[in-house]
Amino acid sequence: MPRVSLGGMEVPGKVVKVKDVKPEPVTEGGAKGVTVRWLISEKDGAPNFSMRYFEVEPGGKTPEHSHPWEHEMFILEGEGEVVIGNEKYRLAPFTAVYVPPNELHYVVNTSKDQVLKLLCLIPHTKR
Ligand SMILES: [Zn+2]
Repeated sequence: MPRVSLGGMEVPGKVVKVKDVKPEPVTEGGAKGVTVRWLISEKDGAPNFSMRYFEVEPGGKTPEHSHPWEHEMFILEGEGEVVIGNEKYRLAPFTAVYVPPNELHYVVNTSKDQVLKLLCLIPHTKR
């Protein structure tokens, strides 16, 4: 049974609050006003997937890019748009988004005053 190292102790699994994970600024690919927190990753011994929590400031934007792995996103709070290939979709809370491999994509926070909060899951070791 795989165990997770937590503060020097080996425990089965991990339960973590967003506020207890350090936000890291996202700067590549023209990103603006974006932070990421790696809630669950390879470091926890997860064999396949990473769960990441993003905050996008009003007017902010995630990197405009494409790559050979997919994204599975879930919008928690706020509003905005996601561009996937040639399509643009509205984002609202409790909406799920699938970005297929190799499609150009990015997320924009179109709100003037609300932070856009979302989860983005990927095969880990990939960004
Ligand atoms: Zn991406």
